[in-house]
Amino acid sequence: MLLSDIRELAKDAAGNIDQVYIHWTAGHYGQKFSDYHILVDMDGTLYATVDDLTTRLNHTYMRNNRAIGIGALCAYQAHSTDDLGPEPPTNAQIESIAQLIAVLSEELALSIDIQHFMTHAEAADNMDGLDPGYAQNGYPDGKYGPENSVERWDFWVVKVGDPPGSGGGILRGKGIWYCKS
Ligand SMILES: [Zn+2]
Repeated sequence: MLLSDIRELAKDAAGNIDQVYIHWTAGHYGQKFSDYHILVDMDGTLYATVDDLTTRLNHTYMRNNRAIGIGALCAYQAHSTDDLGPEPPTNAQIESIAQLIAVLSEELALSIDIQHFMTHAEAADNMDGLDPGYAQNGYPDGKYGPENSVERWDFWVVKVGDPPGSGGGILRGKGIWYCKS
């Protein structure tokens, strides 16, 4: 699927999406999952799992209303920011995600900031200040991200050895770069 096809889907969803969440699947390259609206494979190839981006899917705990999930097919056996396993995010995946951020920002009229485009790592630690009610999950303050229980830490980094926590800012920065001036 082409980026221009995603742009058309996004035009149809405009006004009905508030946030976009960026995940890795923790599966293999090429291994597709239906939990995300848009999949990004190792060579940057895009797939939409739905015809309508407003379809509610279960991608991000307690944050699935009016939200789109992007899933990068990678990170099998990723253990830490210094060990992203044998199938880490590729440059092509990272650039495709950034292009998706740009297109979704433009068509959904969402600014590229942590309030609108978050990694799952950031969402798990409520780094946007929105507490969707995590406290009921049993973790301290309900946070389950890299600075707490570390249950989810998708894109806490984009590359092995990057400073922990730098992933979201890198993806958003690249997304801004890809926006039409
Ligand atoms: Zn995730």
